[in-house]
Amino acid sequence: MNEYDSSKIANILAPVGYIRTEEIKEADLILINTCNVREKAEQKVYSLLGRLKRFKQRNPSTLIGVGGCVAQQKGESLLHRVEYLDFVFGTHAFFDLPEILAELSNGTRRACYTDLHYRFEEDRNVQPVSACGTEVKGLITIMRGCNNFCTFCVVPYVRGREVSRSAKSILCEAKELLKAGIKEITVLGQNVNSYRSPDEHLGFSELLELMNGLEGLQRIRFTTSHPKDLSPSLVSAFGKLSKLCPHIHLPLQSGSNRILKRMNRRYTREDYLNKIEDLRNVCPDISITTDLIVGFPGETEADFQETLDVLHMVKFDGAFSFKYSDRVPAKAVRFKDKISEETKSRRLRSLQAIQKDITMERNIRFERRIERVLVESRNKKNPLQLTGRIAGNQIVNFEGTEDLIGQVVPIRIEEGLLHSLRGRPALINCQGGAP
Ligand code: SAH
Ligand code: SF4
Repeated sequence: MNEYDSSKIANILAPVGYIRTEEIKEADLILINTCNVREKAEQKVYSLLGRLKRFKQRNPSTLIGVGGCVAQQKGESLLHRVEYLDFVFGTHAFFDLPEILAELSNGTRRACYTDLHYRFEEDRNVQPVSACGTEVKGLITIMRGCNNFCTFCVVPYVRGREVSRSAKSILCEAKELLKAGIKEITVLGQNVNSYRSPDEHLGFSELLELMNGLEGLQRIRFTTSHPKDLSPSLVSAFGKLSKLCPHIHLPLQSGSNRILKRMNRRYTREDYLNKIEDLRNVCPDISITTDLIVGFPGETEADFQETLDVLHMVKFDGAFSFKYSDRVPAKAVRFKDKISEETKSRRLRSLQAIQKDITMERNIRFERRIERVLVESRNKKNPLQLTGRIAGNQIVNFEGTEDLIGQVVPIRIEEGLLHSLRGRPALINCQGGAP
């Protein structure tokens, strides 16, 4: 989501003359787009700002702005804390940046722009964005905000209430991406399963169906789904829609019903396992990834063990796992029975060790198979190799020439590794058919 927003910001500023640079010395304007979903992400903002202090002393005319979730939450107090910061802009102020910058250049100093107002219609006037610096994959936000109020989470407070974007505007943006040569589109939202288009009254699976009909589009992905809203129609979409990739990111958070209840996730471990079974009935080889939190307040060894049990039962292809951290003003901040840092670290280590073996086992299943790989770019670590992804979203590296970038090519997988697969081109025709 942040990557998408950062690229959107660059595209919003392009018409008023700003060009993106990776070289800080060249910059007239430095924008830090922030995340505060976990404590660590927020700390990174302060350490980056600390590193910019001397730069600002030497280059006083370079404007520095902090935007996004930390900005939304901290507002004015960021200006007090960081005396060389020029301005703060919240999660809904991106489209106002040209005017904000004009005000700043007219003498307004040290301002804070953190009103929450949705202006999806403006997306239409901004160039769409490609993902991960590739020319092959694009991103589209289909909704903003969240209404779920999981007790650990700050998102509803910093991104506001859930609002879906019209299907018409999403399809327009998708067509723009396709015109620019994009082959794969990932649609984004905190809980895409509760998408409901405001004008056309379409649900998420109906939106996917419309996207599936777009000429030139090869692959569709989405993230993130909330298990409580994973509908039968979305499950069956995996069997029906030829361009929908067989991968779902379905955050479990905990395998203990007691903890899930305290997290206000509104599903049980059994509900979750049933949904996994439904998905695998429709699409037996689907890749499933998840998010897990260890050390949520009140989590006992028995609760933690229940999470590990689910890991063994489901065999996720991958898991992002985090130590719980307090995020003011989320409700769990006020829960009394906090878990010690030491216990959280121990649980995280043991969960990650178990998941590592499972991911290896899952990746090894591809060995000797021929997989269709959408080639994205050269492999940055090994320039002789190209890198791309199979439909299940696993990364594949193989030797090949640059003309393959943007194409779907058949690759024989030779080795399953922990973070990727290694393969070589297979000699079969790979046009049409599945993603
Ligand atoms: N909307 C997504 C989650 C977005 S936040 C969903 O509901 O699945 C991304 C992930 O960060 C969450 O899935 C959770 O695992 C983690 N996370 C959020 N708040 C956290 C906190 N306070 N401490 C640790 N991890 C947290
Ligand atoms: Fe946060 Fe829960 Fe909303 Fe996800 S669904 S963004 S975890 S409140």
